[in-house]
Amino acid sequence: MYEKTLGIVLRETDYKEKDKLLTLLTAEYGKITVRARGVRGAHSKSKAACQLLAYSEFTLFEQQGRYTATETLTKEIFPELRSDIELLALASYFAQVTDVIAQENDPAPELLSLLLNGLYALSKLKKPQMLVKAVFELRMACISGFLPDLRGCAICGKLAPERFNISQGFLQCASCNAEEASGIRMPISFGTLQAMRYICSCDSKKLFSFQLGESSAVELSQIAESYLSMRLERGFYTLDFYKSLFY
Ligand SMILES: [Zn+2]
Repeated sequence: MYEKTLGIVLRETDYKEKDKLLTLLTAEYGKITVRARGVRGAHSKSKAACQLLAYSEFTLFEQQGRYTATETLTKEIFPELRSDIELLALASYFAQVTDVIAQENDPAPELLSLLLNGLYALSKLKKPQMLVKAVFELRMACISGFLPDLRGCAICGKLAPERFNISQGFLQCASCNAEEASGIRMPISFGTLQAMRYICSCDSKKLFSFQLGESSAVELSQIAESYLSMRLERGFYTLDFYKSLFY
């Protein structure tokens, strides 16, 4: 059976002499593995569509749950990301996080939209990397079931407390302690808190439409990165590589 779907390449692996196995995130089918035949050959028309982070329409042939791409139509390959090592490294981290969170054969339109919006913000809108990364990480945590409680201190209810508990995903005053509120706490300014509230609740189209001062942006980026990796209980080699570019 043949079917068409839009999808983005999250991972590519060489397979046999001239093929590739692609991990695609599609709107209709969620994450699927697709064999792209002959795509590493010199004359393949699907080369561009079958590279990491390319967004294309794939015509798929499905047999017994296995997919083969028979035709591709490239929609967006984000050329700006491919000519800049920092941007490519950061975008690769976005792809790996998405790959880890997406489930096989489970439609995930929100995930796909977040990844595409993030790549668009980096490549076309030229938004600051630190901000795009933080927004992506925090929103990704929300989508994957770790929506933080940002209403107020979890113990006394104060509206703008000074700590965010990244182990528990809630706010706390510096002086409020309780047994159930153990874990790692990070300082959070009011500006950062407002930004987090916005990121966790805004319409996905407006995700990158806000401004943030330099010090709040730094604080937000530390919180977002720590929170996501703490909740997912893992690190990412693509993130390690991205960070290694700055030291
Ligand atoms: Zn409190």
